[in-house]
Amino acid sequence: MAYDKDNVFAKILCGEIPCDKIYEDDYAIAFHDIEPQTPIHILVIPKGAYVSIADFGQNADENEITGFWRAVSKIAHEHGLMENGFRSVANTGVHGGQEVPHFHVHLLGGAKIGPLVQKGK
Ligand code: AMP
Repeated sequence: MAYDKDNVFAKILCGEIPCDKIYEDDYAIAFHDIEPQTPIHILVIPKGAYVSIADFGQNADENEITGFWRAVSKIAHEHGLMENGFRSVANTGVHGGQEVPHFHVHLLGGAKIGPLVQKGK
């Protein structure tokens, strides 16, 4: 799947659309999800143009990969997610329910979360 440079997260990255930003470094930015599913719902996105976790893992260089995952870890520590735990999710494609085609990791916490998927579905 080709990268759509007009997706909403691309627009956030270039400053065209505002976001509630909580973190930025050379490789990643993080902001609060506009429709939080849990008391803490943070999205972490790489600065590079990657559609999905698989695209990122295959095509990003080592600095981008290390920088991105170090940012995820730092944010988890700095936003109180380590104390009681959290869930990280990277939806991909139609079956994964991905709405925004720019790789992002959801960090969900602040409350106990139910099963990942409903049994039998
Ligand atoms: P996904 O289904 O994994 O692609 O998740 C996309 C997420 O982006 C959803 O949880 C949306 O609520 C969130 N989202 C969409 N637009 C924005 C925005 N402008 N600012 C923050 N979060 C957004």
